Amino acid sequence: MTKTGRAVVYESPNTPFVIREYPVRDVHPGEVLVRITMSTICRSDIHSYQGRRPNPCPGILGHEIIGIIEQIGEEISNDLRGDPLSVGDRVTWTEFFHHGESHYRDIHDMPQKSPGLRKYGHDLVEDDPHFLGGFADYCYILPGTGILRLPDNLSDEEATPLNCGVATMISVTEAANIQLGDTVVVQGLGLLGLYGCAIAKARGARTVIGLDTVPARLAMAGKFGADTVFDISSMDEETLVKAVRALCPPDGADVGIEVCGVPDAVPTGIKMLRIGGRYVIGGLVNPDANFTIDGNQILKKWITLKGIHNYHPRHLVQALDFVMSSRDRFPFKEIVDSKFSLDQLDEAFAKAADHTVLRAAIVP
Ligand SMILES: [Zn+2]
Repeated sequence: MTKTGRAVVYESPNTPFVIREYPVRDVHPGEVLVRITMSTICRSDIHSYQGRRPNPCPGILGHEIIGIIEQIGEEISNDLRGDPLSVGDRVTWTEFFHHGESHYRDIHDMPQKSPGLRKYGHDLVEDDPHFLGGFADYCYILPGTGILRLPDNLSDEEATPLNCGVATMISVTEAANIQLGDTVVVQGLGLLGLYGCAIAKARGARTVIGLDTVPARLAMAGKFGADTVFDISSMDEETLVKAVRALCPPDGADVGIEVCGVPDAVPTGIKMLRIGGRYVIGGLVNPDANFTIDGNQILKKWITLKGIHNYHPRHLVQALDFVMSSRDRFPFKEIVDSKFSLDQLDEAFAKAADHTVLRAAIVP
């Protein structure tokens, strides 16, 4: 009898998910078959589900995934750190994969921007090997993916966001070049922003200021390294900029980080910076994110403005190291604050979309 597994299929935007069974075949060389132990709903899954960005249908959403290796193909022996991989190991892996030649990888050290790069949670479920997303019993890890073995004492809740949220924020904060003693403003305190506050502190920031409108997030940010938070829902731009700058003497913040997905946050954030300040856009992932900015201010203030999309495989290794070394300091477990089964995916998406939960976990 052929082995099968369940997949929660995303048939079209804004329609209920459907559970289907698909065959689970043996791995080909270079592939790994994983039995999923947890996946989490990322904001980008919600954007796909709501039809705000194109995603193949019918497919399996979800790219923040961990699981246990059930079968391991020839050619795979070690993880990104060089540790041996075997059946039974619990692993995370890069949310993207790319196989073959790449000018961006080989010349510019930007493997995450290789043409033809594919991401988990973005394939048609009818095509072999069916299981390439998070909301299912199984996932195949395809050639060109960076795999990382997880330490036994790390909980699933701490480990699942590593390959999207945490690694992305390692990349964003690296691009912001956060130095010892810096003042850092984080605009948006969702999962990216909370990790952003914590990583900024770990990189040596003196003061971290978090901005959001959701009371639960503002409360959470204090536990993740934010020294001060502002509820921006009741503040006009001038008052907010003045209040933030007052906390960053003598002339404003060293670093601004946008992870709120609101285009107008960018010009506001840049006003908070000192001369020579750095600003990184990490949250404007949807097209038509237009804002207006006075180029003369960029020039006169020597502002460095940078966009970051995806992450380098080394950032996944650093993400794991960061969480392992700071899990006593920051309550990462609290970020994944709810659990659902595969047949509760509609409910989980609804709660994640309206911010009733911070990070919804799916446990098959
Ligand atoms: Zn994600």
